[in-house]
Amino acid sequence: MFTTINGKKTSEEIKSEIAARVAKIKREGGKIPHLAAILVGNDGASQTYVGAKVKSCEQVGFESTLVRMDADVTEEELLRVVEDINANPEIDGLIVQLPLPKHISVEKVTNLIKPEKDVDGFTPTNVGRMALNWPTYVSATPFGIMELLKRYQIPTSGKHCVVIGRSHIVGSPMSILMARNTDPGNATVTLTHSRTKDLASIAKTADILIVALGKPGFVTADMVKEGAVVIDVGIHRVPDASKKSGFKLVGDVLFDEVAPKCSAITPVPGGVGPMTIASLLYNTLLAAEQQVYRP
Ligand code: NAP
Repeated sequence: MFTTINGKKTSEEIKSEIAARVAKIKREGGKIPHLAAILVGNDGASQTYVGAKVKSCEQVGFESTLVRMDADVTEEELLRVVEDINANPEIDGLIVQLPLPKHISVEKVTNLIKPEKDVDGFTPTNVGRMALNWPTYVSATPFGIMELLKRYQIPTSGKHCVVIGRSHIVGSPMSILMARNTDPGNATVTLTHSRTKDLASIAKTADILIVALGKPGFVTADMVKEGAVVIDVGIHRVPDASKKSGFKLVGDVLFDEVAPKCSAITPVPGGVGPMTIASLLYNTLLAAEQQVYRP
């Protein structure tokens, strides 16, 4: 029998913990955490993600500011808004929703965000601090996965962790975090990608398999070791006539056939996804309390 790692429930617990801390800050007359989000253009998925982040801020008692900019905004204008928010003492955390339109350099924008406000953990400073195991804002999805491993008391020390996918926002940081001398962590990590040869055989040696490649149902039962822990980061809409919406959400792992082989597995939806927002809120709380970058 496998354990279903319930990210929805865990994320609600974290949000309640954050809300309790905000209530205490309010009682004591402290500064209410304030998150600003910049959304450029009208991409449907981005609007949904940013909307959910802003709504979650309200849920835990944070203040939030949503800055919407047209898709044809100039790079200079966007950089100016980032600078304004950097300089605004009322705002503790800033996120710029990706992707940005092609004429805007993601590198320039990311590099301009003040590390002290970079609650997405995307700036070079904060990625470097993560790699050095210094206090920092760990980016939300990897942070959420580490928190799930911790709260479900999944042993990681000395285990073989295989990560599929090497993106800057998921696979790469996951491989760094799992290899760090921390708990969770201390794993022996293999980072795989599209050029990896015989991926199925490597995946099958994993005690912990973290899957973030963005291909629905890619991981099948024959790629998974008996008793493995499987973390599925992928999220996809696939057509489903039986649903009112006309679609259902699936992950990168073929859940129904893989789950019976696992000791624990995250479902999609309700696994890694909900943890991402909870982690962003947590980072914003840390920023407001100046727990990472002490003045
Ligand atoms: P990404 O930037 O597209 O990166 C995909 C990675 O997978 C790349 O490193 C790529 O290798 C690798 N890859 C592609 N095909 C492969 C194959 N056949 N075999 C082995 N590796 C392969 O993706 P991402 O942003 O990390 O996202 C991955 C998935 O997670 C997506 O479904 C995304 O929607 C989801 N996601 C979910 C959350 C959440 O909150 N739940 C957050 C972020 C992302 P190369 O580097 O060689 O191209």
